[in-house]
Amino acid sequence: MADTKPQQMDAIQQEIEALTASPLYDYRLENGYQPVIGEGSPDAAVMFIGEAPGKKEAKTGRPFVGASGSVLDELLESIGLIREQVYITNVVKDRPPDNRDPKEDEIELYAPFLRRQIEIIQPKVIATLGRFAMQFILKTFDRPEQDWKISSLHGEPLTAEANYGEVIILPLYHPAVVLYRRDQRDTLEEDFRVLRKYL
Ligand code: URA
Repeated sequence: MADTKPQQMDAIQQEIEALTASPLYDYRLENGYQPVIGEGSPDAAVMFIGEAPGKKEAKTGRPFVGASGSVLDELLESIGLIREQVYITNVVKDRPPDNRDPKEDEIELYAPFLRRQIEIIQPKVIATLGRFAMQFILKTFDRPEQDWKISSLHGEPLTAEANYGEVIILPLYHPAVVLYRRDQRDTLEEDFRVLRKYL
């Protein structure tokens, strides 16, 4: 019998735990961090993809549990969702030192795992959080907007063809923007309302 979705996710977890080839592996061990694979419903209609775990995420092994996670929870609640109903993950599964941006080779290394997660969950909507996730997903699905700025694409649903059928890509700002630009909260709330239509 074919592996169930949770079994397939477990396999990914184990492979990433043993990913000594990652440039972030030693940093993970030195700091007692864990890789952050993702969490939520394996049957979620909506999959959120962030950039990479922060310190709190790497300490707990869970995505978006720090300050930007609180913002994400509030935004989910604003459209009647709780995190158990969606799936939340990141492009890069280990914490980059000092919250620096993920490097190209790191993104490439973790990419196959994220692509497998998308195939397992088969979401109706992929909501990207921030420009790294947006660029990665637009590239993965071969959309022509790959070099566009997030300021012109946020809140605009784009259609793409996945190997399991049609998927909507919804670029969103990263919830962390609200932490340093309060006025961006309205924009994020408005963009989250676009999601509701697909639930
Ligand atoms: N920021 C991200 O992009 N991902 C997390 O998991 C936490 C903060």
